[in-house]
Amino acid sequence: MPLPVHEPHSQPTSDPPECLDCGACCFADLPHYVPVRGDDYARLGDAAETLTRWQGTRCFMAMSDGHCAALVIDAGSGRFSCSVYADRPDTCRELERGSSECEGERERKYARTRRRLPLL
Ligand code: SF4
Ligand code: SF4
Repeated sequence: MPLPVHEPHSQPTSDPPECLDCGACCFADLPHYVPVRGDDYARLGDAAETLTRWQGTRCFMAMSDGHCAALVIDAGSGRFSCSVYADRPDTCRELERGSSECEGERERKYARTRRRLPLL
């Protein structure tokens, strides 16, 4: 969940890259990954219709090609950005860059983000 400015985590781990150079936590093989709750859905506005999927009574960000459908991968610049950054779900906001969760996401998924950058 890329993205520019995150508050420092209270328990910093290894030096994280800039989110725009990482993108790991926006990747997942799961069909339902980022929950979209009521406030999240309302904040997404018109984008909610195209970028979310319902599973029964629960809503999630849509997934596409192994990552959140809102993730924009620019292979030329090697950057990963969130098309709904200002309105992203709370789950994305809660994952702090530099936290242990961030480190775990990078350990598990950073390699697959690199494979999306053919120029690198
Ligand atoms: S909404 Fe944005 S920050 Fe959250 S997983 Fe999707 S692309 Fe990443
Ligand atoms: S895994 Fe960490 S560094 Fe990478 S995009 Fe997510 S919050 Fe940013």
